[in-house]
Amino acid sequence: AKDMGRNTFQFYQPEMNTSVGARLNLERRLRRALRDGEFLLHYQPQVDIESGKIVGMEALVRWLDPEVGLVPPSAFIPVAEESGLIGPLSEWVLREACRQNKAWQDEGLPPARVSVNLSARQFQQRDIAKLVTAILEETGLEPRYLELELTESTIMRNAEEAVVMLNELHALGIGLAIDDFGTGYSSLSYLKRFPVDRLKIDRSFVSDIGASSDDETITSAIIALAHSLQLQVIAEGVETAAQLDFLKERACNEMQGYFFARPMSHEAIAGLLQRERVA
Ligand code: C2E
Ligand code: CA
Ligand code: CA
Ligand code: CA
Repeated sequence: AKDMGRNTFQFYQPEMNTSVGARLNLERRLRRALRDGEFLLHYQPQVDIESGKIVGMEALVRWLDPEVGLVPPSAFIPVAEESGLIGPLSEWVLREACRQNKAWQDEGLPPARVSVNLSARQFQQRDIAKLVTAILEETGLEPRYLELELTESTIMRNAEEAVVMLNELHALGIGLAIDDFGTGYSSLSYLKRFPVDRLKIDRSFVSDIGASSDDETITSAIIALAHSLQLQVIAEGVETAAQLDFLKERACNEMQGYFFARPMSHEAIAGLLQRERVA
């Protein structure tokens, strides 16, 4: 069903790139979606490999378009970024993820962190730390239960400035993770200066564990690098038991992927967390 979904949406993207009319139409519908509350978050568990417990979840945005159904982020994030809608959209995602996580804690579910993706555009906004502060205050979520994921390329685009911004964010007491790690170019000297807590090994390496010895070597190297820098490391896109075993043997801290669970509705993940409480 997932693959069918993918194919259904694929025809969108090339058209968006070629036709200005179609792009404007999408922009108009995205604006309406924001106004009418058509966005929602799915959550994917992040699991401690040692204990098997859910320690976090990544918030992943979806658009419930009344005409089309559920639209994946790849079909609208790029246009949102180009049109300036990414600002209000990201703000909504951040607020909703924090609000939801606090609500779960208030219901007595085991506390877990929620990870929110920050787009390059949003990271460039100088007042991002202010926004995060305001949202934490407004929702009452403790900072340690929020983590921001920034891609390696977002950070390295302007590394000097990134050091300053990351320090500001880190001072709030929230977690910081470098997403899609290994796909961009990080200099090791910068990595030491970034106040990040976690490296997230890109799915393109993890998915080829068992199939590509190069990707296995890279995965092992990233885990070793993280550990030697006293960083936590999480693997994304874990789909098989063999991949999990490989990561476990190398003491990778956490995993996320279809092998454990797909991204799911807030009701469904609350059910999973509830099961852990009684277990
Ligand atoms: P990402 O941050 O790398 O998110 C992980 C993506 O991998 C998610 O796709 C997730 O559904 C998928 N995934 C997770 N486990 C597996 C697995 O085992 N196998 C495979 N094949 N895929 C897996 P999704 O939800 O379609 O999101 C795609 C991208 O859209 C995200 O990539 C992220 O870059 C972006 N995105 C999602 N939500 C937001 C958001 O709120 N704000 C921003 N700025 N970007 C977002
Ligand atoms: Ca991510
Ligand atoms: Ca990623
Ligand atoms: Ca690969």
